[in-house]
Amino acid sequence: MKNYRILAGFLCCAVMVVPDVQAALRVFACEPEWAALAEEIGGDAIQASSATHAMQDPHYIEARPSLIAGVRKADLVVCTGAQLEIGWLPMLLNKANNPAVLPGKEGFFEASAYVQRLEVPGSIDRAQGDVHPQGNPHIQINPHNIVLIATALGERISLLDPANVSVYSNRLQDFLQRWQRALQDWDSRAQALRGKRVVVYHKSWAYLQDWLGLVEVATLEPVPGVPPTASHLAGVLAQLEAQGGADFIIYSPYQSVKPGQWLADRTHIPLLMLPMTVGGSKQTGDLFGLFNEILDQLLGEK
Ligand SMILES: [Zn+2]
Repeated sequence: MKNYRILAGFLCCAVMVVPDVQAALRVFACEPEWAALAEEIGGDAIQASSATHAMQDPHYIEARPSLIAGVRKADLVVCTGAQLEIGWLPMLLNKANNPAVLPGKEGFFEASAYVQRLEVPGSIDRAQGDVHPQGNPHIQINPHNIVLIATALGERISLLDPANVSVYSNRLQDFLQRWQRALQDWDSRAQALRGKRVVVYHKSWAYLQDWLGLVEVATLEPVPGVPPTASHLAGVLAQLEAQGGADFIIYSPYQSVKPGQWLADRTHIPLLMLPMTVGGSKQTGDLFGLFNEILDQLLGEK
């Protein structure tokens, strides 16, 4: 009986104390890389979650009720933008009824606004597939872009939570210093990859190609967003045979291995599954691990 009373007393006080604790800034990220970056900057002062995980294609997810609830409670929504999430984010924002995180407000952060976008089309022809009119949205896969986005995100988080500005600016400086050291290492390792020829499943790797100097010679999708077909793959095979092959075939964890495997079996070109984001494997537990893993695989050091 006595124990029960102690427990009841503890519960009573715990309940009374909790509302006085300064709540962490709630960050709803559309992709894992932005949740990871927010955590690097915010530490315990923020609470970050991601709508998608490493095994999902961020173009296509369902606007589930749990995600709507996440947006409703968020202080800050951090997404790639450039229409990557056009199939689901507008619905989440619409249903969440949280005006503070709508596009144009301080509570909405579009990462792609802070980098130079590649592949911005001169004109839009829907026959060319799922073309992004605002350029290629897969911006996270160049670590130099992360510097620009981290700096802007740090400013935005500080604006929304001025009480913790010193926490955010110290953590951001620490992150950027560690990132710059890692960048020097990555840039020097990457020299060996310059000019390598790649076949990619989807146009997910434009920023990686730009960073590493890789040359995209073919895509397994006939047009962006349309799954590989037998006739298109036969055409890619003929093209590779006529034009000197390629060094790698690259696909993402959420894409089918089969089309790349079909091509690899016939050409003996190494087939690599490269991570697009944080999570999904032990090595890619954070942003540093993501780029270590990509380079390890491309350099054959795994
Ligand atoms: Zn895409």
